Amino acid sequence: MKKLIDLHLHLDGSVPVDTIKELMIKHEMPMLEAASLRKKLSVSPQCHDLNEFLEKFSFAVNLMQTAADLRLITFELLKKLKREGLVYVEIRFAPQLHTEQGLTQEEVVRAVISGLDQFLIWQKEQSSSSPDLHATFLLCLMRLKGNDEANQETVTIAKKFLGQGVSGLDLAGAEMLEFAIRQYAALFQEARAAQVPFTIHAGEAMGPESIREALALGAKRIGHGIRCIEDQALVDKLIADKITLECCATSNLNTKVFDQLDHYPVRRLLHEGVKVTLNSDDMTVSNINLPHEYDLLEEKTGLTRQDERQLYLNAVNAAFCSAREKERLLSLI
Ligand SMILES: [Zn+2]
Repeated sequence: MKKLIDLHLHLDGSVPVDTIKELMIKHEMPMLEAASLRKKLSVSPQCHDLNEFLEKFSFAVNLMQTAADLRLITFELLKKLKREGLVYVEIRFAPQLHTEQGLTQEEVVRAVISGLDQFLIWQKEQSSSSPDLHATFLLCLMRLKGNDEANQETVTIAKKFLGQGVSGLDLAGAEMLEFAIRQYAALFQEARAAQVPFTIHAGEAMGPESIREALALGAKRIGHGIRCIEDQALVDKLIADKITLECCATSNLNTKVFDQLDHYPVRRLLHEGVKVTLNSDDMTVSNINLPHEYDLLEEKTGLTRQDERQLYLNAVNAAFCSAREKERLLSLI
């Protein structure tokens, strides 16, 4: 089994289907046939765009509104990731999306961290010879209307929990002109001043200019960033500044950034010298897992073991973790 690192994984897009079913029973919701449930949670091959893709999150998010449910989801997802060979993961979520039934953002974060604590105890009890999975969380600010206060609160909480389960920030939600990255400059300035690392979703629905805006705010990692290929000067800048791209192949196919994986440019960018990584984004929404993403790129783009080693090294290098954890990850290959 490959040892894998995922730096770009959304909790709400990756709730295991069995856990969704368990929560539906717990909340006495009418059970759906497997095919109907899959349709609610995952995109079809005909998915039209990023907006249709984002619609698939609401069913899961409705089941992520209590501390017990958030804890269970985190625990079950981590067990699944461990089975799939992951040795390190940064799971991201937006605390402000889980406050509909009265939880505060801080309570949301505490609940998710308690799911990790539960997993670490479970992992210790296993007599498995596979390496441990370590995990941290990134808190997402959201591109939404009228949520300035909520975003500010998320930054405050990231500062408070930094190094205690939380390892950084992100900016997520629909990329569109209305929510240009520069509008969030003050929040990321505050993060930088407090030495909270961050990544920013850019260069997915929006073009190279959005990546330039994220870089201007000090981002050293870009969520997706794949549309950099439209601007060679930008690619050169990414190489010179050692910026890491968190690429997510099938997700980009779902949102129609690419119409087939044969030309997915991860291998090309890697060979040009860009710090590329391969990640899953939303396991349930895209109906994928990371080992399968590697298999797909091997089959469709000729990704080699040597390339995969470089992807792993790039991920270790860019991970928002301690030097000691990086050493552990390096010792595994
Ligand atoms: Zn994402």
